Amino acid sequence: MSASATWRNWAGTASAEPSRFARPASEDEAAALVRAAAETGGRVRAVGAGHSFTPAVVTDGTMISLDHLDRVEWVGFAEADGAREVRVGAGIRLSALCAELARRGLALENMGDIDAQSLAGAISTGTHGTGAAFTGFAAQVRAVRLITPDGDVVSASVAQRPELFEAARLGLGAVGLLTAITMRCVPAFGLRAVEAPMPLGQVLESLAEADGPVATNEHFEFYWFPYTEIALTKANNRVRPGDGGSPLPTWRRVLDDEVLSNGIFNATNALTARLPVLTPTVNRVASRLLTARTYTASSAAVFTSPRRVVFKEMEYALPVGAVVPALREVDAWVRGTGENVPFPVEVRFAAADDVWLSTAHGRPTGYIAVHQFHTLAHERYFRAVEDIMIAHDGRPHWGKMHRRNAAALADLYPRFADFLAVRDAVDPRGLFANCYTDTVFGPAAR
Ligand SMILES: Cc1cc2nc3c(=O)[nH]c(=O)nc-3n(C[C@H](O)[C@H](O)[C@H](O)COP(=O)(O)OP(=O)(O)OC[C@H]3O[C@@H](n4cnc5c(N)ncnc54)[C@H](O)[C@@H]3O)c2cc1C
Repeated sequence: MSASATWRNWAGTASAEPSRFARPASEDEAAALVRAAAETGGRVRAVGAGHSFTPAVVTDGTMISLDHLDRVEWVGFAEADGAREVRVGAGIRLSALCAELARRGLALENMGDIDAQSLAGAISTGTHGTGAAFTGFAAQVRAVRLITPDGDVVSASVAQRPELFEAARLGLGAVGLLTAITMRCVPAFGLRAVEAPMPLGQVLESLAEADGPVATNEHFEFYWFPYTEIALTKANNRVRPGDGGSPLPTWRRVLDDEVLSNGIFNATNALTARLPVLTPTVNRVASRLLTARTYTASSAAVFTSPRRVVFKEMEYALPVGAVVPALREVDAWVRGTGENVPFPVEVRFAAADDVWLSTAHGRPTGYIAVHQFHTLAHERYFRAVEDIMIAHDGRPHWGKMHRRNAAALADLYPRFADFLAVRDAVDPRGLFANCYTDTVFGPAAR
């Protein structure tokens, strides 16, 4: 355990001065910390890797990191359906979890862009990747173990305390401190990645087709640089036995992922921050530098890549049919205002799921994410895009910047009231609350 210091998130959009920062070595130690905070009338907030852009972690009370609860507890088959499962300490980073799974011939079935997050943080905010037949992390959770406000350690799953399970598997840590998570996993697999720049209009047209790229690829996404008509498409599909395929040569990986995506991209962002008039030209040049590439690698290596250029992000989940009109409106707004946007817009897809607070709850979903370089103002851009997304029934990512409050969110989630009922029953005093949960869920009913 260490004394408090100023805590900052990855993007520099949130900071906190907790009265105590603790890294318990065991579940018992974590439970003692929760009990101690409860007895003194304080508050507790869990922190993972600090990769949320919102003040999800901010507290002036006790901040608890479960970095030391990062072990594989059990690997096996589910009794109910024989699916492969792994139970791990909730603080494990996704990179470490993937390495542990790979050693056992296993993998996560889908992932987002990076592997730096903690597993607890990823599920608690509804982190997702892309793939019309695939769900986000929270829907892959089979069971959790958590510490409740009175310091008790309880287990929850679909079969055992199902309502607590729903609120715990995606709930911003508002019903307790997750200490262990059981995830569904799959046999290890390779992915063939096909990346190609294409005319944006062609990509948008193809999205409406029944045999378009979203339906015919397991994992399809694209990036679009504002002020251009180019989209970088990425299609990742499982390698079938005998498919062959070759990894990316090291020089190409370093050139693309380190030099172009991180080194030069950082420099062009810094340049356009000083000379915004150059942004449309720089974006056009950058989109032309994107060349096609095809390679095969392990699933984790294809799904995730290093992100060293610091940015701010807002992402909205839309009914999938709203993606094209919403993107066209974003395009028109950026061109109409001349806003300085040197960062690409990312578009992804997910299957409908039944997790109470999942952004894909009950509807096949398209995600539109907008980014801004960390030194540039984001307010006007994000506000305008958010208005467009709201008009299309959009749900904001729980870990990314937005302006929505509990009243607005209640209309977007059919199980919102059920979530609040569990939260109020489990934590009526708001031990696990903070400014962000007060905004998005409302204060606990005391
Ligand atoms: C560069 C970058 C890339 C990203 N890529 C994606 C992406 O591809 N897809 C996507 O959907 N999102 C993405 N995100 C968002 C990110 O996945 C989420 O914000 C995620 O929550 C971050 O995990 P974390 O471990 O940093 O959690 P933190 O930000 O530290 O915490 C997030 C929430 O989880 C809670 N929490 C953490 N640990 C526990 C615990 N043990 N028990 C209970 N609650 C807990 C915290 O209190 C907080 O409410 C990205 C973010 C960045 C910065």
